[in-house]
Order: sequence, then C-alpha cells, then structure tokens
Amino acid sequence: MSLLNSGWRTLSYHQKRLVRDLLKYQGVRNMSKMREEAYIDGQWVSAKSGKTFPVLNPANGKVIANVPDMNETDAELAVDAAHKAFQTWRNTTAKERSVLLRKWFNLMEENQESLSRLLTAEAGKPLAESRGELMYGSSFLEWFAEEAKRINGEVVCSPARSREMIFIRQPAGVASLITPWNFPNAMITRKAGAALAAGCTCIIKPAEDTPLSAIAMVDLAEQAGIPPGVVNVVTSSRGNTPAIGRVLSTHNKISVLSFTGSTPVGRLLYENCARGIKRVGLELGGNAPFIVFNAADLKTTLEAFMVAKFRNAGQTCISGSRFLIQSGVYDEFVGMIKDAMETRLVVGDGMDNGVNFGPLINQSQLNKVDGLVKASIAAGAECLLGGKPHELGGLFYEPTILTNCAETTPCFEEEIFGPVVGIRKFETEEEALQIANSCDVGLAGYIFTQDVSQAWRVARQLETGMIGINEGLISAAEAAFGGVKQSGIGREGSRHGIEEYSEIKYLCFGGIN
Ligand code: NAP
Repeated sequence: MSLLNSGWRTLSYHQKRLVRDLLKYQGVRNMSKMREEAYIDGQWVSAKSGKTFPVLNPANGKVIANVPDMNETDAELAVDAAHKAFQTWRNTTAKERSVLLRKWFNLMEENQESLSRLLTAEAGKPLAESRGELMYGSSFLEWFAEEAKRINGEVVCSPARSREMIFIRQPAGVASLITPWNFPNAMITRKAGAALAAGCTCIIKPAEDTPLSAIAMVDLAEQAGIPPGVVNVVTSSRGNTPAIGRVLSTHNKISVLSFTGSTPVGRLLYENCARGIKRVGLELGGNAPFIVFNAADLKTTLEAFMVAKFRNAGQTCISGSRFLIQSGVYDEFVGMIKDAMETRLVVGDGMDNGVNFGPLINQSQLNKVDGLVKASIAAGAECLLGGKPHELGGLFYEPTILTNCAETTPCFEEEIFGPVVGIRKFETEEEALQIANSCDVGLAGYIFTQDVSQAWRVARQLETGMIGINEGLISAAEAAFGGVKQSGIGREGSRHGIEEYSEIKYLCFGGIN
C-alpha cells in the first residue's frame, strides 16, 4: 500500500484515518498487505504483464494505491473462470444464492464506514454522500437476496387437453458487468446482485478512476462464502480498457453484457454484442429536464433542486441538466437557487467535516465541463454565478448558473455531468414539453407543480424512463431504473432487474390422456 510505504509520520490526519479504516475493513489480516490486486477464480492476482496503474485521490491528486493494469489475456482468464463456475452455480437453489447474497449484504453493512471512506478517497464525493451510496449500494444485495426466491415460472392454459404448457426461468450464463466511476459501489451491486440472484456468474470491470471499491466489495463477497469464479474483478487503466471491453462483449462464453456509462461506449459495446446475439442491458447518459411550473411549491422545488443537481458535484446520470422555469415564477426561483448555491454549498475535500461539494473526478472531466461552459457563454448564455475552475485549484469547479440557454446552447445539447445549472425561461406547458423532448436521450426528468392534472399530463408525455414529480431523489433498489431513446435498454433494480439475467424456457408436456 503506497500510503504505508510513504511513512506513517508523513501522513495527514485523514490519510492515517483512511489507512486505519482500510486495515479495519481488511479485518487487520495482514498489516503489510493491502488489497491492490484483482480477483479471478477465487485468487487475488496481479496482471499477467505485471503492470499496475495508480489510483488517485481527486481531492489532492495523491496516489492512494496501485492496482493491476490488466489486458485481454487476463480478461480471457476471468471469462474462463466465470464460465467454469457457472456450471455449478447455475445448479444452486434460489435459497442458497439468497443466503450468500444476504451474507454479502451483512458484511457490507458491517463495513459501511470503511467502505464509505474508501469511496470518498477514490471518487472525491463528500463522506456523507459516500455513506448514502453505501446504504443504497448494499440495499441492492438485500433486495436481490429476497428477489432470488421469487424468480418464478408460469403455467399457462393449453389450447389442447393432451398438453400442459409451462415456462421455467433459468440463468442466462456468464455476465460482463462494466461500471462507471460516479457510483463505484452501487453500480456494481445493482448488477452483480441481480446476476447472482438469477444464477449467473460475472466479471466486473470497474472504471479506471475507482477500482478500489470494487476490489473491497469483492473481498467481502469472498468472505461471505461466494464460491471461486462466481464473481471476478478485472482492473485496467483506460489504455487497456477497449481491449478488455472487446473480450467482455464478444467472447463466446459471455451471454449477457450489462454496461453503465456513456452513450458512445454503450453504442460500441452494443454493436459488439450484436455479432454474438448477446443479451444487453445498457444504462447510458441522460440530459434530464427539470421543469418548474408556475403552480410549483417553490420551497419543495428548491430542496429537490439541491439534491437532484449537486449530488456528486453534478456527476450523476439522473442529475437535473436542463432547467426549464415558467415565466410566472422565473425571477423568484432563479433568485432562490442562486442564494442557495452561494450559501449552502461548501466546496472542499470530501473527507473534511461540513463539505458537501467535492472535486470533479479527473482532469478530462473538468476540461469537458469548463469547455461546455465557455462554449455556452460564447453561444449567448449569460453567466449568473461561477463559470470557471474553483480557486481551490486542482479538480474543483465553481457551482455555476448559466441563464438564457436555448435548445442549441452546448450545455443544453450535451449532458454536462458537472455542477452547472443551465436555465431557460418558458411560457406554456406545450413549449416546456417541446424543449424537454427535443433531445435524443431520455433517462430521468423532473416536474414541479401542485396541479395534479398538469403533473399527469406532462408525465405522460415526457420522453424519459423515470420521472420525479415534486421529488429530486428517485433512486431506490425497489425502483425500475433505466432510460428510453439513447439512454439505454432494460431496467435495473426492482423485480425487473433480474429479467436481464434470466431466460424463459418453455416446456410442453404432451400425451396426457
Ligand atoms: P464511460 O467512459 O462510458 O466509462 C464507463 C465504463 O466503461 C468505465 O468502466 C470505462 O472504463 C468503460 N469503458 C470505456 N471505454 C470502453 C470500451 N471501449 N470498452 C469497454 N469499456 C469501456 O463513461 P464515464 O465517463 O465513466 O461515465 C459518465 C457517463 O456514464 C455519463 O454519460 C453518465 O450519464 C453515464 N452514467 C449512466 C448511468 C445510468 O444508470 N444510466 C449511471 C452512471 C453514469 P475506463 O474508466 O477504464 O475507461
């Protein structure tokens, strides 16, 4: 562990606390050996090439660990291991899988604080948010431990007296799970919980920026007794990712690919999967409309705004992105959000007390956000607040408001994935819907109005997979999460989340006298 190697006395208070927590999480099994390895076939392994890559703390740029920089050779070994394990895991009972998932959930709960600190260290999100993600992430294991027992088949009415017709559900096979950096814990449990419950085995490929949460969680899966090969983790730097992605989307032993990330990468993986006719689940980018009508309760709307916009500094796929505010409440509501952003957002290292707004994840993300802000201003948007990198330096960006946005303003056209509030004033419901639906993605949307008929009318017509109505926090293990248009295919969470990982087999019993 690089923190240990660098000398205890040179470490800051927070670094020492992180190391203590990591050791606690490890059960203090071995003071000199921290998990900086990938996990294949029940073994903690290095890359076959011996290469590693550094994991950085986005709050200060320091290296917090070095993990294996794997390539296609390692990915193929993981696929073989998962395929071998599938031959026995597929025959476990739902009850057996449920018990193991519940044990994994219990260990996640027991280690919640350490995992939260690890998450803040690698992803930069404020500690309170990391704790929230841990609860959210663990809840998928609990949910799917329960759902595992309800993967029922069907008996249907046969058209012939001599036949009975039955559908049984079976696990689809080996699943590739490719996850992003913005929810390093929950995006894994949302997929792996469902896959394991259904009887699939899996290979997890976490993002370059956040492999440590994945490694830590799989360590707990091993402690829970999940057999070798059932869950595997392949870590890689961005340079090796496309080669690993090819293996995970084209290998003939892979049956399902579940991907969360950007639409361009999702499109590429979908094309790869088409060749092998693999099942796909895609949770892709959004560009959420956040519509505030004259009939909104502005106090409720403000609270929903703060949570929907500033979780993870705006780096959330369901973050409000395009703010449409009706003319009757425009001045008042824009004043309220500016005031709240100036007084309530505390920018800094997510490990520090009171901080509720951390850094962006990496330099390219900061460049993208800043580029979109500059291009939007050049295209006619007016900067009411922020608009540049934060004076703290590094990867911190100012909470920003851009008004006078049009459909063609860059921050409206493209998902900004940062702490930028692009605003457009509108007059009529029809106009709001026309603007909201004028894009090729449709993940989440938000509607604020106390007029129930208006809420229903707009909800029916808004082209998104999920809608918060007078609510900014819509995620839950019980919810069917997913998008329409180019925001993806399939649903995660809820009872539908398992459908991605199971196949229906039709049995026809004939010759009944
Ligand atoms: P990304 O670049 O698509 O990366 C996501 C994951 O895909 C990472 O693990 C990444 O690995 C991997 N990846 C990148 N190129 C690949 C390739 N050619 N083959 C296989 N895997 C590849 O997305 P991001 O920038 O990290 O995340 C932001 C995007 O994710 C946003 O658009 C956001 O809306 C979306 N998102 C959607 C949801 C949802 O549920 N719908 C949730 C969260 C985020 P490396 O890190 O090693 O490149």
